[in-house]
Amino acid sequence: MVILGGGVGGTIVANQVARQMSDDLKKGTLGVTVITDSEQHVYQPMFLYLAFDQVVPSEAKKPERGLLHRYVKMVVGAADHVDQDQKTVVMTDGTSVPYDYLVIATGSRPAPEQVAGLPEGGHLFYTEEGALRLRQALHDFEGGRVVITVGVPHKCPVAPLEFTLMLKAWLEAKGLGQKTEIVYTYPIGRIHSLEPVAQWAAPVFDDQKIESHIFFNPEQVDPEHKTITSLEGETLDYDLLVAVPPHTGQDVIGRSKLGDAGQWVPTDRASLRMKGSDDIFVLGDATDLPISKAGSTAHFEADVVAANLVSLLNGGLGSVRYDGKVFCFIETGLTKATYITFDYLNPPKPSEPTEMIHMFKMAYNRLYWLTPAGLL
Ligand SMILES: Cc1cc2nc3c(=O)[nH]c(=O)nc-3n(C[C@H](O)[C@H](O)[C@H](O)COP(=O)(O)OP(=O)(O)OC[C@H]3O[C@@H](n4cnc5c(N)ncnc54)[C@H](O)[C@@H]3O)c2cc1C
Repeated sequence: MVILGGGVGGTIVANQVARQMSDDLKKGTLGVTVITDSEQHVYQPMFLYLAFDQVVPSEAKKPERGLLHRYVKMVVGAADHVDQDQKTVVMTDGTSVPYDYLVIATGSRPAPEQVAGLPEGGHLFYTEEGALRLRQALHDFEGGRVVITVGVPHKCPVAPLEFTLMLKAWLEAKGLGQKTEIVYTYPIGRIHSLEPVAQWAAPVFDDQKIESHIFFNPEQVDPEHKTITSLEGETLDYDLLVAVPPHTGQDVIGRSKLGDAGQWVPTDRASLRMKGSDDIFVLGDATDLPISKAGSTAHFEADVVAANLVSLLNGGLGSVRYDGKVFCFIETGLTKATYITFDYLNPPKPSEPTEMIHMFKMAYNRLYWLTPAGLL
């Protein structure tokens, strides 16, 4: 069995299968291999806190090898493409890794280059490099107009709201509240894709005097004149531009001709099998499912994929179904947070933010490493 991608979803699958099938792995009658292009496992939610200088980069990563079950083989290298006919993953160095079952867990990537001028004129906190640049810009900021703009699709749907509310509190704590205007743009006709979250957040933004512009799909940034223009024709001035850019699936999906135009893999929403395939499973950000691309989604999906693989390897039918479960904390400033939990049938209902929920989130940030290990 081969798992392509050593992020949260791929690592959980590998460890759960290895733990349940450890006798077979020990005897050599089963092999579990994780292919990852980085020796480091990255906990991406830390980038939000990195931008505000609340953590340092080393707190967001640990060696992937240390998180994997000892019987799981790890191949470090970039996969070039999947050859479905030969049932192999072909690596960029020309070597091949054969599979009987393949799990695609390659995640997604921000694509700021899809908005002309954005890489030069804007900041992002979705990568370590971007968060560090933004950290410096915030450190140097002395007041003005901050525009936060959002493209779709993107991972962690609540992160733009969290960043905006954290920024508001952070600027006030720094004494810049009166000297700063915060403008938030969102591509559709409300300020969040999930309607109950939009209904909850709109009055919070009003209370905090955060100006929102809906139906704003970022199209072009003019770094010289410091303006951003939407597809709809609206232009906004900024002193500091922070973007959550649109995302795409990984290029390995495009090169393998497994995905749609956005390089998302067509996936059955219950079985998590790639559509039209019996031996390929897909999870996490890599799927084309119209649900939140979040670490918790990858986690709940990984439980289903691992259970089905263990069932199939033991002669079962692999019929465990994913119910669409997602859980997200939402930071609402620097000291309080709320959370949402939802699935295919039950919409989210954000509750009143509390300090306790914020403290849970802080604690989870430290405990995260138990999640890929399959222990939490
Ligand atoms: C700022 C920020 C805040 C976030 N906050 C939250 C949050 O609060 N809660 C939450 O649930 N989620 C949050 N997320 C989202 C979460 O991090 C992702 O949704 C999650 O990591 C997706 O898991 P995954 O396993 O699908 O992909 P990833 O964890 O991204 O893993 C993909 C893996 O595939 C590897 N890979 C890709 N291409 C190749 C290739 N060609 N060859 C070999 N390896 C390859 C990558 O190196 C990586 O190891 C946040 C994300 C960001 C950026």
